[in-house]
Amino acid sequence: MALVVQKYGGSSVATPDKIRDLARRIVARHESGDKVVVVVSAMGKSTDALVSQARELAQIPDPREMDMLVSAGERISIAMMSIAINGIRPGLAMSFTGSQIGLITDCNHGDARVLEVKGDRLREALDQGRIAVVAGFQGVSTTREITTLGRGGSDTTAVAVAAALAADVCEIYSDVDGVYTSDPRLAPSARLLDTVDYETMLEMSAAGAKVLKDDAVEYARRLGVRIAAGSSSSGLIGTIVSSENLNRDTLQAMVYNDRLRWVAFGAGVPLPPDCRLCQSVEGRSVVVVDEKHAGAMEGVPCVSLSLIGARVAAQRERVGEVLARLEEVGNRVLAISSTSSKYEIFLEDPLPPAQVSAIHDMLFV
Ligand code: ASP
Ligand code: MG
Repeated sequence: MALVVQKYGGSSVATPDKIRDLARRIVARHESGDKVVVVVSAMGKSTDALVSQARELAQIPDPREMDMLVSAGERISIAMMSIAINGIRPGLAMSFTGSQIGLITDCNHGDARVLEVKGDRLREALDQGRIAVVAGFQGVSTTREITTLGRGGSDTTAVAVAAALAADVCEIYSDVDGVYTSDPRLAPSARLLDTVDYETMLEMSAAGAKVLKDDAVEYARRLGVRIAAGSSSSGLIGTIVSSENLNRDTLQAMVYNDRLRWVAFGAGVPLPPDCRLCQSVEGRSVVVVDEKHAGAMEGVPCVSLSLIGARVAAQRERVGEVLARLEEVGNRVLAISSTSSKYEIFLEDPLPPAQVSAIHDMLFV
């Protein structure tokens, strides 16, 4: 018998039909003897819809009210999921908001950090033999305001809940069946990785891989939570993320990120936080920021290609091949940022999927 936290993303709970299918699987898991906590995101693209409706009312809506608004999405999906489970076995499920489970955050509306999860009501529900259904993405601040954990924050909720309950595993289900050497939607021959260590996964998420949210991986590493990433349609687990690392010395993954902005500053301007690249040479400064942090900063779009793996920069031949290929296709390298486990190349022009795929295959196939 295991204690399992499962997280299902928005697309897997997009319609009542999909919710019913998942509910059957969740009930079967419970009947197999496991204790189950389910964390869900808002249905489909409903968070996006709420955000754009608010923007019709104000260009920069009040952050407190935005959290009040967008946290409503998960409130709907937990109730829907519990209704579906209880339709199969009356009284089995019980839904909880972030504040009901005591998920306490700092006061940073829209991108709050989890400080602690009290979890008393979750333990109670599990002790009563129930399935607890928890709203992802939301919490309550130390000043008792409703907060949210940043877009994609339900992954973070799942990891934080798993840590608080000392769960055996945190299963995160999405529309890809695990972690691949590259996004399989861009590089069709990308290989599924059976295991990934926290360090590599964190670099991948921070570089822009969408499969797991970076905050969630960071919590998992810090709190020692094993993550199992799998497919919500098949229910099969593809990848285990843990501290074990079997392939430390090889190139493990490549991440393409086209949601970046290149911003140049004059002398003496303090550089903004959350930069991916920050260079200041002879009074001229350049930063690269994620689109989502760029706000009103003026700049031009750019993209990056990250090679990830321990001591990647020392693999000069492979890195050289990639740079040569980029030169061949005439894509100008704007800058390179290199750490012990990531080699990130910033490029002027977007890479067409065929090129991302070709570079991936050159490295991994
Ligand atoms: N519903 C939120 C979002 O769309 C949180 C999540 O999906 O994890 O960002
Ligand atoms: Mg964040």
